[in-house]
Amino acid sequence: MPKVCPVCGAEAVREEGEAVLRCTGIECPAKLLRNIIHFVSKEGMDIEGLGASIVEQLIDNNLISNIADIYSLTLEDISKLKKNGTKFATNLVNAIEESKNNDLYKLITALGIRHVGTKSAKTIAKYCKTLDNLMQIDIETLSEIEDVGDITAESIYEFFKQPQTIDLIQKLKTAGVNMQVKEEEKIDERFKEMTFVLTGGLDNFTRDEATKIIESFGGKVSSSVSKKTTYVLAGEEAGSKLAKARDLGISIITEQEFNDMIK
Ligand SMILES: [Zn+2]
Repeated sequence: MPKVCPVCGAEAVREEGEAVLRCTGIECPAKLLRNIIHFVSKEGMDIEGLGASIVEQLIDNNLISNIADIYSLTLEDISKLKKNGTKFATNLVNAIEESKNNDLYKLITALGIRHVGTKSAKTIAKYCKTLDNLMQIDIETLSEIEDVGDITAESIYEFFKQPQTIDLIQKLKTAGVNMQVKEEEKIDERFKEMTFVLTGGLDNFTRDEATKIIESFGGKVSSSVSKKTTYVLAGEEAGSKLAKARDLGISIITEQEFNDMIK
């Protein structure tokens, strides 16, 4: 039995319990349609509007001959596919463009590496941080990643060794597809469990603006001073609320001090 795919020459493997040899070349013409459909699917790069029949038409019209060609499609290319296709084409071009910013795990899933689904792609992405790191990692390290067993580790390792994979990744890089894990947005809750009371006129904020800022940092704004008040923000001509804050020993801050707190 041959160890290479008769169509593209890439390594072909037979896994335990399987009768047929499986080509591992991601750009293999024999699997192109299926690979592209998976790449753009919701689970993969999630390119809305690029369904199986459109992919088929793009291939039949010689507009794409590999996965990376998706990123070279033009408005004219796509609008040819449908009658009055301008709006469809505009939306699709935008969706293709947007998909370049996908988080790394989407790309890893989209590549359709055998045994790698969304769940393991997420832990792999978190561990490796960049696709370059994933491409260079050894099998032992791979198999230590959560959700990655020995079989998956070998499958990933073999996949990234293939010349077709390396070629495709290079093309995707050139097209501007994101290859890094996105930093989780940190929520700044510096005013968590704090209650502010605003009194008097502020120079640089309206009451509404100051309230929004405090709330965006997880704080609350109350209309009356009590023992539960954390800070009284006292502007010009602050009146009875300021007096009450002094009585209760509540911290009183100026607009300048508030400014420093929100930097
Ligand atoms: Zn092949």
